[in-house]
Amino acid sequence: MDAAIRRVCVIGAGVMGAGIAAQVANAGVPVLLLDIVPPGTGDRNKLADAAVARMLKTDPAPFMAPQAAKLVETGNTENDLAAAAACDWIIEAVVERLDLKQALYRRLAELHRPGTAVSSNTSTIPLAALLGGLPEAFARDFLITHFFNPPRYMRLLEVVPGPATDPELVARVSAFCDHVLGKSIVRCKDTPGFIANRIGTFWLQRGVNAAMDLGLGVEEADAVMGRPFGIPKTGVFGLLDLVGLDLMPHIDASMTALLSAEDAFVRGHRVNPLLTRMIGEGYTGRKGKGGFYRINREAGKIKESIGLVTGVYEPSRDAKLPEAAGRDMRALMASEDRYGRYAWAVMGDVLAYAAGLVPEISDDVAGVDAAMRLGFNWKQGPFEMLDRLGPAAVAARLARDGRPVPPLLAAVGEGSFYREAAGEVEVFGTDGAYHRVERPEGVLRLADVKRAGAPLLKNGSAALWDIGEGVACFEIATKMNSFDEAVLKLLDRSLGVVAERFKALVIYTDATNFSAGANLGQALFACNIAAWGEIEKLVDAGQRGFKALKYAPFPVVGAPAGLALGGGCEILLHCDAIEAHAETYVGLVECGVGLVPGWGGCGEMIARWAGAPRMPQGPMPAVAKVFETVSTAKVAKSAAEARSMGVLRERDGITFNRDRLLFAARARALAMVDGYAPPPKPEFRLPGASGRLAMTLAAEGFRAQGLASAHDMAVAGALATVLSGGDADPVDIVTEADLLKLERRAFLALIRTGPTLERIEHTLATGKPLRN
Ligand code: NAD
Repeated sequence: MDAAIRRVCVIGAGVMGAGIAAQVANAGVPVLLLDIVPPGTGDRNKLADAAVARMLKTDPAPFMAPQAAKLVETGNTENDLAAAAACDWIIEAVVERLDLKQALYRRLAELHRPGTAVSSNTSTIPLAALLGGLPEAFARDFLITHFFNPPRYMRLLEVVPGPATDPELVARVSAFCDHVLGKSIVRCKDTPGFIANRIGTFWLQRGVNAAMDLGLGVEEADAVMGRPFGIPKTGVFGLLDLVGLDLMPHIDASMTALLSAEDAFVRGHRVNPLLTRMIGEGYTGRKGKGGFYRINREAGKIKESIGLVTGVYEPSRDAKLPEAAGRDMRALMASEDRYGRYAWAVMGDVLAYAAGLVPEISDDVAGVDAAMRLGFNWKQGPFEMLDRLGPAAVAARLARDGRPVPPLLAAVGEGSFYREAAGEVEVFGTDGAYHRVERPEGVLRLADVKRAGAPLLKNGSAALWDIGEGVACFEIATKMNSFDEAVLKLLDRSLGVVAERFKALVIYTDATNFSAGANLGQALFACNIAAWGEIEKLVDAGQRGFKALKYAPFPVVGAPAGLALGGGCEILLHCDAIEAHAETYVGLVECGVGLVPGWGGCGEMIARWAGAPRMPQGPMPAVAKVFETVSTAKVAKSAAEARSMGVLRERDGITFNRDRLLFAARARALAMVDGYAPPPKPEFRLPGASGRLAMTLAAEGFRAQGLASAHDMAVAGALATVLSGGDADPVDIVTEADLLKLERRAFLALIRTGPTLERIEHTLATGKPLRN
């Protein structure tokens, strides 16, 4: 039997089904999306069609590029179930009702081809219940695949096989979700809420109840639950606003119905009159009139929050936690004030609950942590938090409170859940022994490399690592991975070391963002004291460094994920190849802060467009493309979009699974080693004065429409001068060095202007561009 998954069907085109279908399409796999035929309409595919149309307008976008929508074929469950049965995997994502799901399975079972996977996206219904009364042959191919919302952006996928599920089929679906859809798979047992929602909903319940009991305001509660614990700053109440308050009664009802009366969730459950009232009045969160927080537009766009005791909205006030407690969970939990008591009341319970659920929900402590990290965006899972707090200290405090200590917590005793042995991470098992945390084939983490040995080179801003097979990895390690002088110095030294001792170089970081570009704070400081020489040095060092990288005698692969802006984009443009994570947001954003790319970005982008397939002849088309994206500081919203923006070329690769990125980049670098020769130096023919005029006219068009400010015009003019080749005649050959000079001149002129400095200052202070 051919085991590949080439075509997928998703049934149920709601929030989840549509989002899952989009992610399948993002990965380049055709997908059939079905929903019911709505009563009273001749348009039988209306619901699925509407879902695709809606997704094309949604922000953040479910599709990585609009073209992906073409891979989604729509249909309905009355006409198209036979076509569904012909797919290699059918994902059911209809409303959370057992009767409806079962009715659908019974129809599918009649058409089912053995070996076709069928999975449910249910959040709460046990697999055993879903399968009740269905034939054995169907059960063999059935499992739960629980995606998180939104399916494109949330990395967690909980996979729950049943006792009869064919292990080979589970492996096949898991491999597809891992490699093709980019999900991190966590195996769960068939228990209510699986792992992430079981612990996460308990945390929400405790977070709400304890805030009410201890008289905390919602800002205070969220400040305590957020940063000190490495939890997103939405905390408990902000998260409830985000997911919708009306979801809570449903989750409460299904969890209390499914869990035993002894379970801490059931025992802690209470009817919350405030929540009931808010939902009744349409205060369902961000999608409704507001939630625990709201923007009061009548009062002039004031942020307000609801008093948990009074039920009345008041202007929102930021909560300030004491210094140490605001940063660190240990200091916070130890403090005797109301914030410390709230922290213990919630997290003490949550950590004890999580420890008590192993082995019921999973045998694997590391899997539980991964589920909370990837499903709720916590920086650390509960067992990692326990290690930070000291498992023995938490156990002692539980005992002091007269509470039972979960057996696993007692068993770990004075030890920790994770430990390092000979450079490897080991995790505490339910058998009381430590086991190596295995990385799947094709997963390479820089964190593991770092644990195993010392860097080849290192300074305060960057490091060079040996990642095996003769490949080195250059890692930037500044705030937001911005480029400063020290990064460039280490890059320079690294090129020497790699040339002597390695076959290839990869530029990569484990951090969320590849690089936010040049360190604007440092640049601003230099401008403020008129240290123009420092700025010139930085421009020169970047230009020299990136060209040295480009012409190094070994292949270089850039492996970005997250933001790669300005200088972060420019370093990628100088690599021989790019292996990008699918969620890479890349762009030359210099114009946004009143500058032009100064580290070779202009020339590299012209060369890319000039060499792109199907580009019309002549110097202007490529230059116009570059002007369009650079003058508007356009940032690609995915790697797929980076490809249509010309940053990624045909030969560059996209990896969907973040954990596989470094390995894939290393493989791409190794594939280029044999017969490697540095690229030839490009020679440009640029459009000169007439091209400059055409670009300036285009900018003036924007100005006339009120879309460009006076300083936008100055910046666009400077960019047009660089891209047109300055005073070059269209018949002249412009060298790479000429273009670098033009970039340098434009950059250094703009950075001395008041409006550019205002832009930089504003962006540093707010993270947003200023249109002055
Ligand atoms: P939804 O209400 O947004 O969408 C459900 C869709 O199913 C609707 O378009 C509806 O018309 C369709 N539908 C209903 N009966 C059908 C049938 N018999 N055949 C075909 N289509 C049918 O719901 P949702 O939030 O997308 O949830 C879908 C599933 O995913 C549920 O099992 C839910 O528990 C689970 N889930 C939801 C989330 C979430 O955050 N919303 C997260 C994870 C899992």
